[in-house]
Amino acid sequence: MLLAGIQVLGLLSCLLIAKSTAAVAFADVPSVPLSNAAVAGLRMPVIGLGTWAYGFPGEKWNDTIGGITAGQFIKLGGRRIDGALGYGDQAGVGKGILASGIERSELFVTSKIPCYGYNETLKNVDEALSTLNMSYVDLLLIHWPYSKSKVFTTDPNCKPDTAASAKTCRQSVWRALEAVFRSGRARAIGVSNFEQNHLQDILDMADALVPAVNQVEFHPYWHEDDLVAFCQKRNITYNSYSPLSCPDWAPKTHFWSKKHGALDEDVVMQAAKAHGKTPAQVVIRWAWQQGVVVNPRTYSTQHMAENLAVFDFELSAAEMAAISSIKPPKLNKVCPDPHKDP
Ligand code: NAP
Repeated sequence: MLLAGIQVLGLLSCLLIAKSTAAVAFADVPSVPLSNAAVAGLRMPVIGLGTWAYGFPGEKWNDTIGGITAGQFIKLGGRRIDGALGYGDQAGVGKGILASGIERSELFVTSKIPCYGYNETLKNVDEALSTLNMSYVDLLLIHWPYSKSKVFTTDPNCKPDTAASAKTCRQSVWRALEAVFRSGRARAIGVSNFEQNHLQDILDMADALVPAVNQVEFHPYWHEDDLVAFCQKRNITYNSYSPLSCPDWAPKTHFWSKKHGALDEDVVMQAAKAHGKTPAQVVIRWAWQQGVVVNPRTYSTQHMAENLAVFDFELSAAEMAAISSIKPPKLNKVCPDPHKDP
């Protein structure tokens, strides 16, 4: 009897998942239009799935779990997956997408490549696409405005490794991204971890395309409001990474007193209670009410469903202000600070 009940429940949940897969069209998913270096009409879903590391920095997604996780996210109606050549996630993501049976055109895939030089960029894009098993990505980003690991670069703009070459190198890498965009292998191009001075280097180039997106760390402990305004003024979509303040390992490595980082903050928990939502939904909603798109990472289908369901409530101005004013711990940034990069 119990077994029969479980089987019925299993069948029902399969039917529900199948229904949700079939029911969610890309056009129905909350999304933002991309401007600047993006093909006309391209939209970026507000909620993506993060795929960086797991449990601890350096611990990467393996292809099997990564594939299953990407597939589950798609089944639940997620349409954007955020990855990078450096994450080791690309093969798993590619497999998960293929296995999902969803048309490639119904999904939005982001990849990132390091800032090594012009030819190195073209080579890395080839590698990312072949590992993903795709002919294009929707969004291609320069992962970081500067890279120290340039010993093997063939690009004279990246040598010698000085502050001056940091600028000419990122400009040269941007030219490579423009070439990839024009070839159709990226439907939009952008940057990641770029501060205002790094962005200005691109904006100062003659006839350069303006980045469509800047993906930057952004959560209640670390939000660069000036940078958000700088980007939004130029129609550069602001994309938050570590939107939940990386509650699995950052509290341990950063000696945060709160066990789970921003999700355990009183004002976040109070807002969650007031709206009948979870702390993660409140923090995601706080970002979205500022026009910021997010890609929380999770293996959990329950968390995926939660993270996708943030469009049926609204934080008040007082709640928004209280979350923005949370006093962060001393070491408040998950990733290294790109302000320190030349
Ligand atoms: P994050 O998304 O802030 O946090 C991930 C953690 O949150 C996991 O431990 C996950 O655990 C938990 N979580 C997810 N949903 C939850 C929910 N609803 N309730 C409670 N806990 C929840 O951390 P992140 O990985 O640092 O950032 C997200 C993504 O941004 C990355 O994966 C990557 O794609 C991107 N990123 C980009 C850069 C860059 O340089 N461009 C740097 C860092 C990250 P469960 O599995 O248990 O849900």
